[in-house]
Amino acid sequence: MQLISPEKIFRGNSAWFQALPQIKKISKRPLLLGRSLATNEIRQQIYKDLLDENFEVYITNLNFDCCYEDLERLESIVIKNKCDSIIAIGGGKVLDAGKFLADSLSIPAITVPLSASTCAGWTALSNIYSKEGQFIKDIELKSCPKIMVLEHEFIKTAPKRTLASGIADALAKWYESSLTSSKVEDGLVQQAIQISRVLRDQLLIDGESAYHNQSIQNVSWSNVVEGCALTAGLIGGIGGEKCRTAAAHAIHNAITQIISTHKPLHGEIVGVGILLQLRLEETKNNNKLANQSIKQLVLLMKKLNLPTSIADLGINVFENNNLQKIAEFTCRDKSEIHFLPFEINQQDIIETIINFEKQKIKIA
Ligand SMILES: [Zn+2]
Repeated sequence: MQLISPEKIFRGNSAWFQALPQIKKISKRPLLLGRSLATNEIRQQIYKDLLDENFEVYITNLNFDCCYEDLERLESIVIKNKCDSIIAIGGGKVLDAGKFLADSLSIPAITVPLSASTCAGWTALSNIYSKEGQFIKDIELKSCPKIMVLEHEFIKTAPKRTLASGIADALAKWYESSLTSSKVEDGLVQQAIQISRVLRDQLLIDGESAYHNQSIQNVSWSNVVEGCALTAGLIGGIGGEKCRTAAAHAIHNAITQIISTHKPLHGEIVGVGILLQLRLEETKNNNKLANQSIKQLVLLMKKLNLPTSIADLGINVFENNNLQKIAEFTCRDKSEIHFLPFEINQQDIIETIINFEKQKIKIA
Protein backbone atom coordinates (compact mmCIF):
# COMPACT_ATOMS: atom_id res chain seq x y z
CA MET A 1 0.00 0.00 0.00
CA GLN A 2 1.19 3.49 -0.78
CA LEU A 3 0.19 6.53 1.24
CA ILE A 4 0.27 9.35 -1.24
CA SER A 5 -1.38 12.44 0.17
CA PRO A 6 -3.70 13.93 2.76
CA GLU A 7 -7.34 13.24 2.00
CA LYS A 8 -8.22 16.93 1.65
CA ILE A 9 -5.90 19.87 1.16
CA PHE A 10 -6.88 23.49 1.61
CA ARG A 11 -4.38 26.08 0.44
CA GLY A 12 -4.28 29.82 -0.11
CA ASN A 13 -5.48 32.94 1.64
CA SER A 14 -8.65 31.72 3.28
CA ALA A 15 -7.73 28.07 3.54
CA TRP A 16 -8.50 27.92 7.25
CA PHE A 17 -12.06 29.19 6.87
CA GLN A 18 -12.64 26.93 3.88
CA ALA A 19 -11.46 23.98 5.93
CA LEU A 20 -13.69 24.64 8.95
CA PRO A 21 -16.88 23.01 7.57
CA GLN A 22 -14.85 19.93 6.58
CA ILE A 23 -13.27 19.72 10.03
CA LYS A 24 -16.75 19.95 11.50
CA LYS A 25 -17.79 16.89 9.53
CA ILE A 26 -15.16 14.71 11.18
CA SER A 27 -14.70 16.18 14.65
CA LYS A 28 -16.55 17.73 17.57
CA ARG A 29 -13.90 17.61 20.31
CA PRO A 30 -10.51 18.37 18.78
CA LEU A 31 -7.29 18.68 20.71
CA LEU A 32 -5.28 21.68 19.53
CA LEU A 33 -1.59 20.97 19.72
CA GLY A 34 1.10 23.64 19.43
CA ARG A 35 4.41 24.64 20.94
CA SER A 36 6.10 27.95 20.38
CA LEU A 37 5.20 31.17 22.15
CA ALA A 38 5.70 33.02 18.89
CA THR A 39 2.73 31.26 17.31
CA ASN A 40 0.46 31.50 20.32
CA GLU A 41 -1.59 34.31 18.82
CA ILE A 42 -2.52 32.27 15.75
CA ARG A 43 -3.41 29.26 17.90
CA GLN A 44 -5.63 31.44 20.08
CA GLN A 45 -7.35 32.74 16.95
CA ILE A 46 -7.92 29.18 15.72
CA TYR A 47 -9.21 28.24 19.18
CA LYS A 48 -11.67 31.11 19.11
CA ASP A 49 -12.82 30.29 15.56
CA LEU A 50 -13.51 26.72 16.64
CA LEU A 51 -15.44 27.83 19.73
CA ASP A 52 -17.51 30.14 17.54
CA GLU A 53 -18.38 27.10 15.46
CA ASN A 54 -19.50 25.25 18.62
CA PHE A 55 -16.59 22.83 18.82
CA GLU A 56 -15.60 21.59 22.26
CA VAL A 57 -11.91 22.38 22.09
CA TYR A 58 -8.99 21.27 24.24
CA ILE A 59 -5.70 23.04 23.90
CA THR A 60 -2.25 21.89 24.93
CA ASN A 61 1.41 22.28 24.04
CA LEU A 62 4.37 20.13 23.23
CA ASN A 63 7.04 20.72 25.88
CA PHE A 64 10.03 19.43 23.94
CA ASP A 65 10.38 17.86 20.50
CA CYS A 66 8.33 15.03 19.09
CA CYS A 67 9.60 12.73 21.87
CA TYR A 68 8.16 9.78 23.77
CA GLU A 69 7.95 11.78 27.03
CA ASP A 70 5.68 14.35 25.40
CA LEU A 71 3.72 11.80 23.39
CA GLU A 72 2.84 9.70 26.44
CA ARG A 73 1.66 12.75 28.37
CA LEU A 74 -0.39 14.00 25.41
CA GLU A 75 -1.94 10.61 24.81
CA SER A 76 -3.40 10.58 28.30
CA ILE A 77 -4.80 14.10 27.79
CA VAL A 78 -6.53 13.00 24.57
CA ILE A 79 -7.98 9.90 26.24
CA LYS A 80 -9.06 11.73 29.40
CA ASN A 81 -10.89 14.42 27.42
CA LYS A 82 -12.28 12.00 24.85
CA CYS A 83 -10.93 14.13 22.00
CA ASP A 84 -11.94 12.87 18.58
CA SER A 85 -9.24 14.51 16.46
CA ILE A 86 -5.86 16.22 16.75
CA ILE A 87 -5.35 19.59 15.11
CA ALA A 88 -1.58 20.08 15.04
CA ILE A 89 -0.63 23.71 14.52
CA GLY A 90 3.04 24.60 14.12
CA GLY A 91 6.33 23.46 12.62
CA GLY A 92 7.56 19.98 11.77
CA LYS A 93 7.99 18.71 15.32
CA VAL A 94 4.45 19.71 16.35
CA LEU A 95 2.97 18.28 13.14
CA ASP A 96 4.87 15.02 13.60
CA ALA A 97 3.70 14.74 17.20
CA GLY A 98 0.08 15.45 16.24
CA LYS A 99 0.15 12.88 13.43
CA PHE A 100 1.77 10.26 15.65
CA LEU A 101 -0.81 10.76 18.42
CA ALA A 102 -3.76 10.65 16.04
CA ASP A 103 -2.33 7.54 14.40
CA SER A 104 -1.78 5.65 17.63
CA LEU A 105 -5.28 6.55 18.89
CA SER A 106 -6.91 5.94 15.49
CA ILE A 107 -8.48 9.39 15.29
CA PRO A 108 -8.11 11.89 12.41
CA ALA A 109 -5.07 14.14 12.16
CA ILE A 110 -5.54 17.66 10.88
CA THR A 111 -2.31 19.51 10.12
CA VAL A 112 -2.01 23.28 10.04
CA PRO A 113 1.63 24.15 9.26
CA LEU A 114 2.63 27.61 10.48
CA SER A 115 5.74 27.74 8.35
CA ALA A 116 7.05 26.19 5.15
CA SER A 117 9.99 24.70 6.99
CA THR A 118 9.19 21.06 6.14
CA CYS A 119 6.63 18.89 4.36
CA ALA A 120 5.58 17.31 7.67
CA GLY A 121 2.02 18.61 7.21
CA TRP A 122 1.63 16.23 4.28
CA THR A 123 3.42 12.99 5.01
CA ALA A 124 2.52 9.72 6.72
CA LEU A 125 5.76 9.79 8.70
CA SER A 126 6.74 11.02 12.14
CA ASN A 127 10.31 11.58 13.20
CA ILE A 128 10.89 10.72 16.83
CA TYR A 129 13.53 12.70 18.72
CA SER A 130 14.83 12.68 22.28
CA LYS A 131 13.84 15.47 24.67
CA GLU A 132 17.11 17.14 23.71
CA GLY A 133 16.34 16.97 19.98
CA GLN A 134 18.49 13.98 19.02
CA PHE A 135 17.02 11.99 16.14
CA ILE A 136 15.94 8.48 17.19
CA LYS A 137 13.95 7.08 14.27
CA ASP A 138 11.18 7.75 11.82
CA ILE A 139 7.93 5.92 12.06
CA GLU A 140 5.62 5.13 9.17
CA LEU A 141 2.04 5.97 10.05
CA LYS A 142 -1.12 4.21 8.90
CA SER A 143 -2.22 7.20 6.81
CA CYS A 144 -1.44 10.73 5.71
CA PRO A 145 -3.37 13.45 7.59
CA LYS A 146 -7.11 13.54 6.99
CA ILE A 147 -7.03 17.28 6.32
CA MET A 148 -4.11 19.60 5.66
CA VAL A 149 -4.60 23.36 5.86
CA LEU A 150 -1.89 25.52 4.29
CA GLU A 151 -3.19 28.96 5.18
CA HIS A 152 -0.95 31.57 3.55
CA GLU A 153 -2.02 34.25 6.03
CA PHE A 154 -0.51 32.11 8.79
CA ILE A 155 2.62 31.13 6.87
CA LYS A 156 3.52 34.71 5.98
CA THR A 157 4.00 35.51 9.67
CA ALA A 158 6.70 32.81 10.07
CA PRO A 159 10.34 33.89 10.50
CA LYS A 160 12.30 34.04 7.23
CA ARG A 161 14.69 31.49 8.66
CA THR A 162 11.99 28.81 8.55
CA LEU A 163 11.43 29.42 4.83
CA ALA A 164 15.14 29.13 4.10
CA SER A 165 15.19 25.89 6.07
CA GLY A 166 12.20 24.58 4.10
CA ILE A 167 13.95 25.40 0.83
CA ALA A 168 17.03 23.42 1.86
CA ASP A 169 14.91 20.46 2.95
CA ALA A 170 12.92 20.50 -0.31
CA LEU A 171 16.09 20.80 -2.42
CA ALA A 172 17.30 17.59 -0.79
CA LYS A 173 14.47 15.69 -2.52
CA TRP A 174 16.25 16.00 -5.88
CA TYR A 175 19.80 15.48 -4.66
CA GLU A 176 18.83 12.42 -2.63
CA SER A 177 16.22 10.75 -4.83
CA SER A 178 18.06 11.20 -8.13
CA LEU A 179 21.05 9.50 -6.59
CA THR A 180 19.35 6.60 -4.85
CA SER A 181 16.51 5.85 -7.25
CA SER A 182 17.58 6.82 -10.76
CA LYS A 183 17.92 3.16 -11.73
CA VAL A 184 14.60 2.09 -10.25
CA GLU A 185 12.40 1.01 -13.14
CA ASP A 186 9.10 1.89 -11.49
CA GLY A 187 7.50 4.68 -13.55
CA LEU A 188 5.98 6.44 -10.56
CA VAL A 189 9.39 6.65 -8.87
CA GLN A 190 10.89 8.10 -12.06
CA GLN A 191 8.09 10.65 -12.29
CA ALA A 192 8.59 11.58 -8.63
CA ILE A 193 12.28 12.19 -9.31
CA GLN A 194 11.40 14.45 -12.23
CA ILE A 195 8.99 16.43 -10.06
CA SER A 196 11.79 16.87 -7.55
CA ARG A 197 13.99 18.27 -10.35
CA VAL A 198 11.31 20.75 -11.39
CA LEU A 199 10.89 21.69 -7.74
CA ARG A 200 14.65 22.21 -7.38
CA ASP A 201 14.65 24.49 -10.44
CA GLN A 202 11.76 26.50 -9.07
CA LEU A 203 13.51 26.90 -5.72
CA LEU A 204 16.74 27.97 -7.44
CA ILE A 205 14.82 30.53 -9.49
CA ASP A 206 12.35 31.84 -6.90
CA GLY A 207 14.03 31.07 -3.57
CA GLU A 208 15.81 34.36 -3.13
CA SER A 209 12.82 36.52 -4.04
CA ALA A 210 10.57 34.47 -1.75
CA TYR A 211 13.01 34.81 1.12
CA HIS A 212 13.41 38.57 0.79
CA ASN A 213 9.79 39.42 0.10
CA GLN A 214 7.45 37.28 2.16
CA SER A 215 4.13 38.54 0.98
CA ILE A 216 1.02 36.99 -0.49
CA GLN A 217 1.34 39.36 -3.48
CA ASN A 218 4.73 37.86 -4.34
CA VAL A 219 4.05 34.88 -6.63
CA SER A 220 7.58 33.58 -6.01
CA TRP A 221 6.80 33.45 -2.32
CA SER A 222 3.56 31.45 -2.70
CA ASN A 223 5.20 29.10 -5.18
CA VAL A 224 8.15 28.46 -2.90
CA VAL A 225 5.96 28.01 0.18
CA GLU A 226 3.75 25.50 -1.61
CA GLY A 227 6.76 23.78 -3.15
CA CYS A 228 8.31 23.22 0.28
CA ALA A 229 5.14 22.31 2.17
CA LEU A 230 3.14 20.50 -0.54
CA THR A 231 5.18 19.36 -3.55
CA ALA A 232 8.00 18.03 -1.38
CA GLY A 233 5.39 15.89 0.43
CA LEU A 234 3.89 14.71 -2.86
CA ILE A 235 7.30 13.55 -4.08
CA GLY A 236 7.71 11.42 -0.97
CA GLY A 237 4.14 10.14 -1.42
CA ILE A 238 4.35 8.97 -5.00
CA GLY A 239 8.04 8.10 -4.94
CA GLY A 240 7.72 5.91 -1.88
CA GLU A 241 10.40 5.00 0.58
CA LYS A 242 13.47 4.94 -1.64
CA CYS A 243 12.63 8.32 -3.07
CA ARG A 244 12.86 10.00 0.29
CA THR A 245 16.29 10.17 1.77
CA ALA A 246 19.94 9.29 1.36
CA ALA A 247 23.15 10.80 2.66
CA ALA A 248 21.89 14.34 3.33
CA HIS A 249 19.28 13.12 5.82
CA ALA A 250 21.56 10.40 7.21
CA ILE A 251 24.13 13.09 8.00
CA HIS A 252 21.36 15.30 9.42
CA ASN A 253 20.31 12.50 11.77
CA ALA A 254 23.91 12.05 12.89
CA ILE A 255 24.51 15.76 13.47
CA THR A 256 21.43 15.99 15.70
CA GLN A 257 23.19 13.55 18.06
CA ILE A 258 25.47 16.42 19.05
CA ILE A 259 23.75 19.12 21.03
CA SER A 260 24.40 22.55 19.56
CA THR A 261 23.70 25.80 21.35
CA HIS A 262 22.55 27.23 17.99
CA LYS A 263 19.49 24.95 17.89
CA PRO A 264 19.60 24.61 14.10
CA LEU A 265 16.39 23.83 12.21
CA HIS A 266 15.87 20.54 10.38
CA GLY A 267 16.42 21.98 6.90
CA GLU A 268 19.45 23.97 8.00
CA ILE A 269 21.19 20.72 8.93
CA VAL A 270 19.89 18.92 5.83
CA GLY A 271 21.32 21.72 3.65
CA VAL A 272 24.81 21.06 5.04
CA GLY A 273 24.06 17.36 4.54
CA ILE A 274 23.41 17.94 0.81
CA LEU A 275 26.80 19.64 0.42
CA LEU A 276 28.53 16.76 2.19
CA GLN A 277 26.64 14.23 0.10
CA LEU A 278 27.85 15.97 -3.07
CA ARG A 279 31.43 15.83 -1.78
CA LEU A 280 31.01 12.08 -1.19
CA GLU A 281 29.67 11.72 -4.73
CA GLU A 282 32.66 13.59 -6.04
CA THR A 283 35.30 11.64 -4.16
CA LYS A 284 33.71 8.19 -3.93
CA ASN A 285 31.58 8.02 -7.07
CA ASN A 286 33.64 10.10 -9.48
CA ASN A 287 30.79 12.56 -10.06
CA LYS A 288 32.49 15.32 -12.00
CA LEU A 289 29.49 17.64 -11.79
CA ALA A 290 29.24 17.51 -8.01
CA ASN A 291 31.56 20.45 -7.51
CA GLN A 292 29.47 22.60 -9.86
CA SER A 293 26.35 21.65 -7.93
CA ILE A 294 28.04 22.61 -4.67
CA LYS A 295 28.98 26.03 -6.05
CA GLN A 296 25.45 26.61 -7.31
CA LEU A 297 23.94 25.56 -4.00
CA VAL A 298 26.32 27.49 -1.79
CA LEU A 299 25.54 30.64 -3.77
CA LEU A 300 21.83 30.26 -3.03
CA MET A 301 22.39 29.14 0.56
CA LYS A 302 24.49 32.23 1.31
CA LYS A 303 21.75 34.46 -0.10
CA LEU A 304 19.27 32.71 2.19
CA ASN A 305 21.59 33.01 5.20
CA LEU A 306 21.70 29.24 5.47
CA PRO A 307 24.60 27.49 7.23
CA THR A 308 27.08 25.97 4.76
CA SER A 309 29.30 24.04 7.17
CA ILE A 310 28.92 22.03 10.35
CA ALA A 311 30.77 24.86 12.14
CA ASP A 312 27.99 27.23 10.99
CA LEU A 313 25.53 24.94 12.80
CA GLY A 314 27.36 25.69 16.04
CA ILE A 315 29.30 22.41 16.18
CA ASN A 316 33.07 22.07 16.15
CA VAL A 317 33.73 18.63 14.68
CA PHE A 318 37.32 18.72 15.91
CA GLU A 319 36.41 18.50 19.59
CA ASN A 320 34.65 16.05 21.95
CA ASN A 321 35.08 13.16 19.56
CA ASN A 322 32.33 14.73 17.45
CA LEU A 323 33.75 13.53 14.17
CA GLN A 324 33.69 9.92 15.32
CA LYS A 325 30.17 10.30 16.70
CA ILE A 326 28.86 11.70 13.40
CA ALA A 327 30.61 9.01 11.35
CA GLU A 328 29.33 6.19 13.58
CA PHE A 329 25.73 7.36 13.52
CA THR A 330 25.81 8.07 9.79
CA CYS A 331 27.05 4.57 9.04
CA ARG A 332 24.96 2.63 11.56
CA ASP A 333 23.08 -0.38 10.18
CA LYS A 334 19.69 1.29 9.78
CA SER A 335 21.05 4.47 8.22
CA GLU A 336 19.76 5.84 4.91
CA ILE A 337 23.40 6.27 3.87
CA HIS A 338 23.26 2.65 2.73
CA PHE A 339 20.77 3.60 -0.02
CA LEU A 340 23.66 5.27 -1.84
CA PRO A 341 24.69 3.42 -5.01
CA PHE A 342 28.28 3.22 -3.72
CA GLU A 343 29.86 1.93 -0.52
CA ILE A 344 30.58 4.38 2.27
CA ASN A 345 32.35 3.62 5.53
CA GLN A 346 33.09 5.65 8.65
CA GLN A 347 36.55 6.61 7.43
CA ASP A 348 35.05 8.08 4.22
CA ILE A 349 32.71 10.22 6.30
CA ILE A 350 35.51 11.35 8.59
CA GLU A 351 37.84 12.31 5.71
CA THR A 352 35.08 14.08 3.80
CA ILE A 353 34.00 16.10 6.83
CA ILE A 354 37.58 17.04 7.77
CA ASN A 355 38.27 18.38 4.28
CA PHE A 356 34.91 20.07 4.09
CA GLU A 357 35.20 21.82 7.44
CA LYS A 358 38.83 22.85 6.90
CA GLN A 359 37.94 24.34 3.53
CA LYS A 360 35.13 26.32 5.09
CA ILE A 361 37.31 27.54 7.89
CA LYS A 362 39.88 28.73 5.32
CA ILE A 363 37.21 30.60 3.35
CA ALA A 364 35.96 32.26 6.53
ZN1 LIG B 1 13.75 16.53 5.75
